[in-house]
Amino acid sequence: MFISYVDLLFNLPLRQSYTYQVPEEFLDKVKVGIRVQVKFGERTKLCTAIIESIHKIEKAEKILPIIKLIDPEPLINAEQIALAYWISENYLCSTGEALFIMFPKGKEVKRISPKAQGETKIIYELNSSQKAIYKKIKNDLKKKSQRKKPPIHLLHGITGSGKTEIYIHLIHNAISLNYTALLLVPEISLTVQLIQRLEQVFINQLALLHSGLKPKQRFQSYLEIIRKEKKIVIGTRSAVFAPLTNIGLIIIDEEHDSSFKENSTPRYDARQIALKRAESHNASLVLGSATPRLETTYYARNSLMSFTYHSLTHRAKGQGLPEVYLAKVDSPDSIIGDKLLAELDENIKRKEQSILLLNRRGYFPQVYCLESKTVELCPSCAVSLNLHRNGQLKCHYCGYQRHYDGFASDGGETRLVGTGTQKLEDFLLHKFPEVRIERLDSDIIDKQNVLKDTLLRFIGGEIDILIGTQVIARGLDAPRVSLVGVLQAEKGLYLPDFRATEKTFSLLTQVAGRAGRSNIKGRVIFECYNPQNPVIQAAALHNYEKFYQMDIPFRKATFYPPFSRLVRLVCRGIEQKRIQNFMQKLGLLIEERFQDEAKDSQRIEILGPAPASIEKIHNKFREHILIKTNSMQTVRKILKEILFEKSELTTHALDYLEIDLDPLDMM
Ligand code: ADP
Ligand code: ZN
Repeated sequence: MFISYVDLLFNLPLRQSYTYQVPEEFLDKVKVGIRVQVKFGERTKLCTAIIESIHKIEKAEKILPIIKLIDPEPLINAEQIALAYWISENYLCSTGEALFIMFPKGKEVKRISPKAQGETKIIYELNSSQKAIYKKIKNDLKKKSQRKKPPIHLLHGITGSGKTEIYIHLIHNAISLNYTALLLVPEISLTVQLIQRLEQVFINQLALLHSGLKPKQRFQSYLEIIRKEKKIVIGTRSAVFAPLTNIGLIIIDEEHDSSFKENSTPRYDARQIALKRAESHNASLVLGSATPRLETTYYARNSLMSFTYHSLTHRAKGQGLPEVYLAKVDSPDSIIGDKLLAELDENIKRKEQSILLLNRRGYFPQVYCLESKTVELCPSCAVSLNLHRNGQLKCHYCGYQRHYDGFASDGGETRLVGTGTQKLEDFLLHKFPEVRIERLDSDIIDKQNVLKDTLLRFIGGEIDILIGTQVIARGLDAPRVSLVGVLQAEKGLYLPDFRATEKTFSLLTQVAGRAGRSNIKGRVIFECYNPQNPVIQAAALHNYEKFYQMDIPFRKATFYPPFSRLVRLVCRGIEQKRIQNFMQKLGLLIEERFQDEAKDSQRIEILGPAPASIEKIHNKFREHILIKTNSMQTVRKILKEILFEKSELTTHALDYLEIDLDPLDMM
């Protein structure tokens, strides 16, 4: 007698799928891609799993049955299941966990009737440089069926050059050829405006998948995609998994943005997943940015993989880029320099808007104890506590807080050091009591609507000065902004991360690009200790080229991407000695195995083990190893063998090993 069985994938760190039996009553209801509930191991609660395959075998003993079906229709398609396997291979994570990040949490409540008919209203004609690029990319789409590899286009266009309009025309073109299209945008930041713009053009045709939506809305959007009711998807990182079929075009806007990389397991990079999906669908991939990652530019300029480089060097409406003035700051106690203050005053008189970027939240970033001569640290983390306006000392890593009573934890007298966004805000409110000043940073943006609401009021002219951390640096297109000031412009530049210069350059260039986007001329001021710093100078000149020519030789000499690929291993545990020993052994084993395995031209460099820059978070010590290699495949194979297959080395049950391939976070 033959019985139906299903193989199930669980949202657990398991390296395989498990077989369950299909009871009689579910026989004609089970389908690949639906969620079910079953008993698993010793767990008392039922576990949710996804059916990856259905098969019949002769009756086997001791196989547990499915208890419940969750979905009436598949939530996951075959491409997604294959993709989950690919992710587990490439990022060394569990297939089930990879699958469970692909759809929003939720459950269908009732079938909502299909929405009104879609309609497309293209508003702007492209200018000649936009048109030239559009045509080249569009031609690739037409040749889709004849080519072997998906084309990748880097659209390197300065801030305000009209990249969004090119995206709109490309999406329109893809849809009219009966393909679907996917547009990925950065987390939070200013996708508000971009989405509004696209909604005006593609009326009733967009499915949105981002964290600003309520879970129910997000789930509903997802269902509309899988049912093929919507052909255009716009979303943040995890939208890269949207179950679109017949994809013609994938666009990643602000491709340099770090939010495209997931920071917890599975640590995937949406840009790599997008490329993988472009390959599966033979779709065109477009990456857009004013400050592309050095890796991307390097590939594009050297026509590596199947890259083409396009650049837009002028603003769409013919405005010039704003002039940037470098103001030297002498004292760490200065909140804001005279020059910037005078320009702010001038802007207030002219009734024009200003943006101030200070990438440091809180009131006083540090509390210094005069007796012990140390900075007050979080009791659980190796980071300093930040004093907030409400009198609480806060840790920005673990959330610890305590009331500040004017003294250090050992009772010593204190000195309050530095300036955060709250202090800047208070200072300006006091200085300009009549002026509408608002602040945006992650202490305020606990709800997405605050961000959206504040930005829309700013764009609408209801706010005069907007103060914020890097959340305000990107994408914002507010026509009446004529002054941008950056305080402590060097912040971040000296962090122990080979990308510190790139991140600083990119942030400064992006925020400078917020000024003078319409007919009012823009001015920008960077306040810094050393106006001679070449990175600050390149950003002040909006000169990507200069920065690129400066950093690429450094990357080459030090064997960093794009000249190598990286793997970062971080071990966390309560006992520092134990994790250090473990990492020591791991490092040696990797080195040894690589030498056995590698061919002549294959190269590996292992840095560490050493305590991570942030040595302790949440009472867990952190020890890391950084691997640089030109043969990721070999490294991946070795890691798999060492850690999963032969189990030559296992972490202590209380410790945890993070495996980060192509990491962005070095801290
Ligand atoms: P980017 O995405 O490159 O920063 P945007 O696409 O936001 O630039 O364009 C900047 C501004 O120029 C926007 O206000 C946009 O509406 C306008 N714009 C872009 N292309 C055109 C065009 N072809 N004709 C008229 N206005 C345009
Ligand atoms: Zn802490």
